[in-house]
Amino acid sequence: MPECRNCGQRWTWRQTMRRSLGSMNDGVTCLHCEGTQYVTRKSRIKGALCLGAIIIPIPIVRNMFPDLPDWTFVSLMAALMVLFISLYPYLISFSNENEPLIK
Ligand SMILES: [Zn+2]
Repeated sequence: MPECRNCGQRWTWRQTMRRSLGSMNDGVTCLHCEGTQYVTRKSRIKGALCLGAIIIPIPIVRNMFPDLPDWTFVSLMAALMVLFISLYPYLISFSNENEPLIK
């Protein structure tokens, strides 16, 4: 779980989910010290790679098993997305500065 670089308080899973999803680039306000925290570049890359690792194999698996009905893949994708979202707070860490994705 991420820790605020300003006050050192560790965020809970719930706080991380509520505050950081969808505002990764704009920064998030710490509940403890009101300081702005940014998701580190490394964490964003990690998140993107994990998302890619979930999404990319799906069409490959679909080609391997063409007889399986579509709902199987939709369900698989939904389950993997839920898994990704629930693991997301474990992947991220905070920084006091907004690090650009590309240097
Ligand atoms: Zn803080």
